[in-house]
Amino acid sequence: MHEPSKADQQLAQSQSLLENLARLVPGVIYQYRLYPDGRSAFPYSSPGMNDIYEVTPEEVREDATPVFGRLHPDDYDDVANAIGESARTLQTFYCEFRVVLPRQGLRWRWSQAHPERTEDGGTLWHGIILDITARRQTEAEKAVLETQLQQARKMESVGQLAGGVAHDFNNMLSVILGHTELALEQVSPGQPLHVNLMKIFQAATRSADLTRQLLAFARQQAIMPKALDLNEMVQGLLTLLRPLIGEDIDLKWHPAADLWSVKMDPSQIDQILTNLLVNARDALSDVGKVTLETGNTTFDESYCAEHRGFVPGEYVRLDVSDDGCGMDKDTLSHLFEPFFTTKQLGKGTGLGLATVYGIVKQNNGFINVYSEPGEGSRFSIYLPRHAGNAEQAGTNGAAAAARGQETVLLVEDEPAILELTTTILERQGYTVLAAQTPSEAIHLATRHPGPIHLLLTDIIMPEMNGRDLAKNILAANPHLKSLFMSGYTAGAIGRHGMLDADVSFIQKPFSINELAAKVRVTLDRE
Ligand code: ADP
Ligand code: MG
Repeated sequence: MHEPSKADQQLAQSQSLLENLARLVPGVIYQYRLYPDGRSAFPYSSPGMNDIYEVTPEEVREDATPVFGRLHPDDYDDVANAIGESARTLQTFYCEFRVVLPRQGLRWRWSQAHPERTEDGGTLWHGIILDITARRQTEAEKAVLETQLQQARKMESVGQLAGGVAHDFNNMLSVILGHTELALEQVSPGQPLHVNLMKIFQAATRSADLTRQLLAFARQQAIMPKALDLNEMVQGLLTLLRPLIGEDIDLKWHPAADLWSVKMDPSQIDQILTNLLVNARDALSDVGKVTLETGNTTFDESYCAEHRGFVPGEYVRLDVSDDGCGMDKDTLSHLFEPFFTTKQLGKGTGLGLATVYGIVKQNNGFINVYSEPGEGSRFSIYLPRHAGNAEQAGTNGAAAAARGQETVLLVEDEPAILELTTTILERQGYTVLAAQTPSEAIHLATRHPGPIHLLLTDIIMPEMNGRDLAKNILAANPHLKSLFMSGYTAGAIGRHGMLDADVSFIQKPFSINELAAKVRVTLDRE
């Protein structure tokens, strides 16, 4: 036995220091050696090798092959090239890459190493490898969220634009429709002019439908939600929509038993179902199958965490599926954008799904689409459950050509509509006090000697909204009835454009008969 030499002691000390440090460092620290004949090895690697590559330092001391076997096939070339480059230039090696490990599966690795030339002409690196899987996952999630946010913003701004255009357009359409109706009444059906006027009337009506779709997309459609039984609604609509689908298409309908109710404007269910069915029909080449289904669905937090786009809660589901052409990824990514269509000119407007999207959003629901090219499509609409029973989806039909002698205070900032509406009401026998601004209306109301029975007002006006105007005038005329009209709502009526059930409202553009009926019904209300 002899005393260990000073040099031996120092070596032992520095080795234990290295071992302690190596254990402290996250990941692995290593020496990697590349021989001139292309073989390579890890002459030294810290115990972290067990985690980083799931190999022991001994297994790769002489031969690095097991490590290369762990590299993700798609990243193998990147790593090999980075090593080659660093060996050639003696610049620092740097690489982020994936590994596939027997126990941990797919993981991300980050490595940096400094090279030096060896006597035999090979290269020796000293470096470190770290686990960056968590960072990579966060980045990926962030990218997904960012895309979603951008998509939402895009839809929002397109919606605002569409809503604004639709609003102005609605006013113009009201004037066209109204004057055409007035003209039609003065031309007997036998005269040639009658045909022309009918054509104008039909075209304007069709434009009004398009405008309504745009407003629905922009979530600026005034709505009157009712508690509804979706099964009953669908059943009723199917009779109407059957001809639209055509005889050769096999239409299956599976209503769920004990379906929860939803609270929604019935006309919005019409819009959803019509658009989805027309799309399903178009996806089928003459023959095929379309299936309608309803159901109750509950999503909990954990389900929604795993399924993007789902929101926890209780929903009534409406599925419309077809075994038609299906959709590719590109189509799916633009599906709900207004004016996105793959149909030939004149066949599609690209407003169908934009409308459905707007309606479902306005009702705090969401949509899920499943489709593959050639495999058909399934659209699932989720509408929030309404706690309570369904009411009857009553009609608001009233006697046509309803007349009266009462006095109506009419407020409308668009002169052409003010004039038209005055003409219509006067023809029905009413006395009309016409005002272009709320202040003018208040002035007229105080000056008018007799009673005022009805306030018919636009909702959105520069000075004061229709609601506040009604409150103001009601103070002096407690028996006054109010009827609101609007082309859009843009949140001015209430949150999400929802009207209280007891508020009378008429959507622009309206026909002479619609207006006359609505005025009569409002006046006759208790
Ligand atoms: P449009 O029907 O006027 O083209 P939509 O907004 O209703 O506008 O639909 C947009 C596009 O989405 C369609 O042009 C079509 O490419 C695709 N699409 C919608 N529904 C289906 C379906 N059931 N099967 C296949 N493609 C569909
Ligand atoms: Mg469509």
